[in-house]
Amino acid sequence: MSAQQSPGDQKGLLDRLSAGAVICAEGYLFEFERQGYLQAGAFVPEVVLEHPDLVEHLHRTFVHAGSDVVEAFTYYGHREKLRLIGREQDLEPMNRQALEIAKKVARDTGTLVAGNICNTTTWAPADTASQTQARRMFDEQVGWAVDAGVDFVIGETYSHFGEALAGLEAIKAAKLPAVITMAILTNGMTREGTDPVEAMKRLEQAGADVVGLNCARGPRTMMPLLKEIRQAVKCHVAALPVPYRTSPEHPTFQSLSDPACDCIPGNQPFPVALDPFTCNRYEIAEFAKEAWGIGVRYLGVCCGAGPHHIRAMAEALGRRPPASRYSPDMSKHYVFGSASGLRSRNMEFSKELRGNV
Ligand SMILES: [Zn+2]
Repeated sequence: MSAQQSPGDQKGLLDRLSAGAVICAEGYLFEFERQGYLQAGAFVPEVVLEHPDLVEHLHRTFVHAGSDVVEAFTYYGHREKLRLIGREQDLEPMNRQALEIAKKVARDTGTLVAGNICNTTTWAPADTASQTQARRMFDEQVGWAVDAGVDFVIGETYSHFGEALAGLEAIKAAKLPAVITMAILTNGMTREGTDPVEAMKRLEQAGADVVGLNCARGPRTMMPLLKEIRQAVKCHVAALPVPYRTSPEHPTFQSLSDPACDCIPGNQPFPVALDPFTCNRYEIAEFAKEAWGIGVRYLGVCCGAGPHHIRAMAEALGRRPPASRYSPDMSKHYVFGSASGLRSRNMEFSKELRGNV
């Protein structure tokens, strides 16, 4: 991509999906929590107002690694969460700033800019007042995204099917392309007990341009659902797992336990002690190849993602993003390498360094 592309030169989301894969880096909350710029628990993107330069930098880092989408960092930047931390007055500035930062990076790099809405945490299936309130929150955030001129809007991490549908309706009311992804619970269902495949079919029928899954599940426990979803819908499918080694026994990152460690408060690795379960870049590459192979075209990594995961995903799809300039070349390692000019004394040391395994 050229450094200075005008919006008019750009293909939209659906054109890009028709032509090939679209990679969308997510995981901003976990990354900034690790860096110490927002708090686990409430998980509000306060860094947008306090350190906009860092948000811009992380967007640029993910684009450098291969992301085709700059997703405005408004996840959990909605009215309910801002109220929870006593910053409701910052709601609009936070959203507008996040959108401006994302747009600036997208326009500089020839990528797409996406608005973002997400689970409100207030939705209750039998409570129409909570649903009206959620829709109002979606409408105000989508409105700011429209003002910013986003290319499309992502509605994500919904566990309630009804809430996913409400998010979709808010995006479609603004006449923007909608990517709707749900986080499927440990029991394999939505929170209402709807089968996820059925939920995806109904979201497609309701006008979603892309439907799929994000968050909660790692590659291994997301893939079986993706295969069913890909078969069941005609529209494009999205897959953005968390980069953690979930298993049939522990299908979500919320359900993981760590028998090797006895000092985690509450004995629950989620959300800040998941490190030992982190997928390496090769596992993410394998996931990307398999997902692409079954026809999933919108790909990314959610909470826990690092730039190396995104680069691995891009390279697995046959791309060479700018960060690939520094992809590993172990032939030049002073002990494990084979390049000419390396010292034989060090190369002979390789078995000993590995512990003679
Ligand atoms: Zn996530």
